[in-house]
Amino acid sequence: MAKRDYYDILGVSKNAEQAEIKSAYRKLAIKYHPDKNPDNKEAEEKFKEAAEAYEVLSNAEKRQRYDRFGHAGNSANGGFGGGGMNMEDIFSNFGDIFGGGNPFESFFGGGGQSRGGRRIIKGTNLRIKVKLTLEEIAKGVEKKIKVNKLVVCKTCDGSGAKDKSSTSTCRTCGGSGSVRRVTNTILGQMQTTSTCPTCNGEGVEITAKCTTCQGEGLVRGEETISINIPAGVSEGMQLSMSGKGNAAPRGGVPGDLIILIEETPHEVLKRDGINVIYDLYISFVDAALGSSIEIPTIDGKAKIKIDPGTQGGKILRLKGKGIPEVNSYHKGDQLIYVNVWTPKALSQNEREQLENLRESPNFKPQPGKHEKSFFERIKEFFE
Ligand SMILES: [Zn+2]
Ligand SMILES: [Zn+2]
Repeated sequence: MAKRDYYDILGVSKNAEQAEIKSAYRKLAIKYHPDKNPDNKEAEEKFKEAAEAYEVLSNAEKRQRYDRFGHAGNSANGGFGGGGMNMEDIFSNFGDIFGGGNPFESFFGGGGQSRGGRRIIKGTNLRIKVKLTLEEIAKGVEKKIKVNKLVVCKTCDGSGAKDKSSTSTCRTCGGSGSVRRVTNTILGQMQTTSTCPTCNGEGVEITAKCTTCQGEGLVRGEETISINIPAGVSEGMQLSMSGKGNAAPRGGVPGDLIILIEETPHEVLKRDGINVIYDLYISFVDAALGSSIEIPTIDGKAKIKIDPGTQGGKILRLKGKGIPEVNSYHKGDQLIYVNVWTPKALSQNEREQLENLRESPNFKPQPGKHEKSFFERIKEFFE
């Protein structure tokens, strides 16, 4: 759709003064204001169109650029917010247009998320803790959890009223759901509307309360909620499911469910960020002769090879056997710390055999220059 000329939109001439432009915009802003034209798409478009035209023509530099290049030239130069200004931007400029006070303020201020009409009631957030094993964290898991929460009262369907006849017209607003206020502005008297505080915009007052929920519209109930927990979460992390919290009365929207993650420590594996650490103990015979050893990982057993002559303190790595990063393809590793187990009790026979080895030259420690210190090995793995 071709864009209309900004001067045409505001109905002013090409050489209009600033004051004239401002006044033209003011009139259009009032005429097409969304609160005066509820659910009127055409008015909303006109309202935005006028705001955009004013945004450009009220700025000397932008106006000059527009005069020279038109719409096309301007969008190439970064535009005037040509993709359409959002409502918030438009309203935020009103202070300027209407000289200090925003006559529409009461439509947007305070408490309600809806403008003008009834205020949207939001249920409260519900917090639960979910305990996860390391395996569940590594793979991600769907948890079905029974949650005790506030649900809409079935007897009154959330209205809080005993029955249809136990309501009467709200005395504060006379049933309209909104209260009007007249304000004096530079444009003369302006009527502003806000949600009725007594009935919260319902227009009705309850004369007899529902006996099931004592007029609250809500009762305690249970719901089994399916929670998809992505892989890689960690202790203390919070997930939020919108709309799964406590229900709201009178047709409001439910609050959110906040899920606090707790980690159940694994029996033998330790988590270190995205890596999993396993402390392996091997005999010094296995260390000297080499061996193949089965070790636990987060997805079952794995066989690892111990090379002949393996020193205590060596760190082995199983690539990709760690924890994934949340919402990423990157995955940590399993690190295996090799400890050489020294026997604590020996039989007479064992003692004799070891005594024979004591003086053997191969059993004397001979650390070479190539031998890295424990500290260096650790550093190497974490860099
Ligand atoms: Zn009820
Ligand atoms: Zn009312």
